[in-house]
Amino acid sequence: MSERIIGIDLGTTNSEVAIVKDGKVEVLEIHNGSYLLPSVVGLADDGCMLVGESAANQFALYPERTVKSIKRHMGSDYQINLGEHSYTPAEISAIILKRLKTIAEQHLGEAVNKAVITVPAFFSDAQRQATRDAGRIAGLEVARIINEPTAAALAYESNHLGQKNIMAYDLGGGTFDVSIVRLENDVVEVLASHGNNHLGGDDFDQKIIDHAIQHLKDEFSIEEKAFTPQVIARIRRAAESAKIYLSNNPFAMLDEEYLLKKNNKVIHLSLELSRHDYEEMITPFIDQTLQAAHIALEGANLSVSDLDEILLIGGATRTPLVSQRLEQEVGLPTRNEIDPDLCVASGAAIQGAVISGDKVNSVLVDITPYTFGTSALSMLDGEMYPYTYVPLIRKNSAIPARHTEVFFTPHDNQERVDVMIYQGEEKDALNNTEIGRYTIEGLSKAPAGNEILTTFSLDLNGILHVSSKEKATGMEVSITIDNAIARFDEEELEQAKMRIGQLLGDGSLSEQARSDNQRNHNQILIEKAESLMEGSGEDDREDLVDGVERLKDALAQGGDIDDAVSQLSDLVFYLES
Ligand code: AMP
Repeated sequence: MSERIIGIDLGTTNSEVAIVKDGKVEVLEIHNGSYLLPSVVGLADDGCMLVGESAANQFALYPERTVKSIKRHMGSDYQINLGEHSYTPAEISAIILKRLKTIAEQHLGEAVNKAVITVPAFFSDAQRQATRDAGRIAGLEVARIINEPTAAALAYESNHLGQKNIMAYDLGGGTFDVSIVRLENDVVEVLASHGNNHLGGDDFDQKIIDHAIQHLKDEFSIEEKAFTPQVIARIRRAAESAKIYLSNNPFAMLDEEYLLKKNNKVIHLSLELSRHDYEEMITPFIDQTLQAAHIALEGANLSVSDLDEILLIGGATRTPLVSQRLEQEVGLPTRNEIDPDLCVASGAAIQGAVISGDKVNSVLVDITPYTFGTSALSMLDGEMYPYTYVPLIRKNSAIPARHTEVFFTPHDNQERVDVMIYQGEEKDALNNTEIGRYTIEGLSKAPAGNEILTTFSLDLNGILHVSSKEKATGMEVSITIDNAIARFDEEELEQAKMRIGQLLGDGSLSEQARSDNQRNHNQILIEKAESLMEGSGEDDREDLVDGVERLKDALAQGGDIDDAVSQLSDLVFYLES
């Protein structure tokens, strides 16, 4: 057997290790179900070296003997003092790499000596060399250093044939970069890259921290000097949790009990933050990243219309505003079905397997093939429309998935709301397929704008659970739709598609949807037409027989299939309705 080469994403905030085993990519668990090793090294009270979670935990108490974000210093002659000794950035990174090597060895039950390690595309030769040195110090021969966007592209497209232009948008905890990558068969090339070494999810946290501090000052007249590093560390923890919660929920609480004392009175932090207000805070950061994306595109001599894919990398890309703004800007759906924290390590492992000549399958993730959502009175094509589709779980999202949105009652004293549940992609909910509905009754008599929180939660078995809660009272109504994913057998799905196609003119179905389903579609159409023959009158039966023959001939001899399909589906649609 060829020698195993592990893949390592040596990140600024977190690092990960992945392997390829029996052709399958596997990111290795570090600790208690987490796959992320915080890239933090520290010295404990007893002089022991701490790595990862334990080092991160002592940061608030002992910042002077804890090292974070060492990646920013790679390749420089910066020295880090820890206890009696001073260390180079490569040595600190080696401590992190060594830990990852040990995790891989424990998992595999064998020694591991080689690794592919990823670095940002903008890393200089000196920074790459320092990364190689770190590997060697950790006892790893660095089989290859690859760019992070290259690794992400490999994770998504390891078995891709043909050419594709990909935007890899990477927003981590403390760094942002966007690269334009060209994939040509199995060659991946970074055409251009741009970014900001000091922009990421930590800045989002900081905005929330500033907001919380302002609230404490305004509400309780707390003075600046009361915000000691320990107090700030606690607010930071609450801010990050709230930020993460807001990625799937419209409101979050910032809660830290017994945060401060003023005149012997205990002050708790308890502050609600809405996603709307949070998004306003971070919009300037997102604007910056979009400008960088345009600069990278210019550097690659491409325009948005040349792009085939946008891949989201880095934990902070889970912020919904990131994908929304990118989709608006580029006009392409973003892809994040491979965990954005883990896809770079997965790509590194794939590169490792390729170097050792091992077979690799694509990274497998469970995704939903459909979008699920509800309808609301909202703008559709410039007009207020009562059945505007509001998707909550989008097609191609990794499952399990859970998302909550807030809706507002449009009328004063409204006591009931009908909640409709749809599966589909159309902006007008009525053109999607309704898969369930319920009514919330007995709402409080409130002015218009009463907040209703609706949650969609889809599990691995395709069970969709939908609930709505009046925020003010907590009153809740819910429904479970047992096989939301499987419930459409192909035939029903094709019928729904045909119906929508007819309503909108067939050209409105996307090219992708058409080609994906074409073969199945033809077969189902023929079966449908044949089943209709029995109950039809003579003329209709003749038309059906003609239509079926024409389509079969076209399929067998490569004739005008589109025309035959269109004629037969018109007929089937007409007879069915
Ligand atoms: P990375 O450096 O790629 O590990 O990304 C870490 C950053 O992602 C941190 O700022 C995290 O707080 C942030 N992050 C992780 N999960 C989420 C989430 N669900 N929503 C928003 N930000 C997140």
